[in-house]
Amino acid sequence: MSLILRIDVDSPYGKENVFNHICSRIASDYNITPLLFLPYLKYLDDFIIYLNSKSIQGNFFFRKCTLPTNIILDHLRQGNHIIGLHLENSISLDSFKEELKFLESNINSKIEVFSKHGSGKFKYGLHHFPSYEPTKYLDWGSKLGMKIFFGNLEDPTIDFSITNQRLMFYPAAFWLEHHWRDTKSFDINWLIRESKLRDLVLLIHVENIITNNLLYNELKYILENAELMRT
Ligand SMILES: [Zn+2]
Repeated sequence: MSLILRIDVDSPYGKENVFNHICSRIASDYNITPLLFLPYLKYLDDFIIYLNSKSIQGNFFFRKCTLPTNIILDHLRQGNHIIGLHLENSISLDSFKEELKFLESNINSKIEVFSKHGSGKFKYGLHHFPSYEPTKYLDWGSKLGMKIFFGNLEDPTIDFSITNQRLMFYPAAFWLEHHWRDTKSFDINWLIRESKLRDLVLLIHVENIITNNLLYNELKYILENAELMRT
């Protein structure tokens, strides 16, 4: 019984200011290799080091534009974290496979878990296929040898299941950012209580949290008080 920490790594340079935000968007649209004048994924590396100091295990999902550097990979491996694909171009089995192989060849390791970028409403970037079609992903995931899929529904009471294709499927998450959650019904104390009763997913985007004091303090409180996956 514990909280599964899911980290979707959407932003190459974070969102500390407008310049970083714009560079993140351009880098994701054109798959530009890390720019030397901006600290690439620095916000993420700091967060991994923090988790390592607390022996908390995270599941990190990367896009093609947020591939982990060797240093970040070292820190992820030191903390025994799980590395997954944050599926962006989900238009077909082939586009899924292309993203998966790209990430696997870059980290030199097999990937068995994935999450989906976007929940079907908006198009986030040039390569993003916005529809949200979990049934297709489960079918394709099984064909590609995946073991776990983390979905994007926003009702955290929905439980995980094991699909006919033998994939572990977590359809929903507790989204830390308030605009993706019914904060009246599901506050952080609800999450902490629930984490002691069953497995459920906490979804965070680190770049949004480090620029928002309220979210930062809520995350810290959760990590100090919930039942967590530890290494
Ligand atoms: Zn995303």
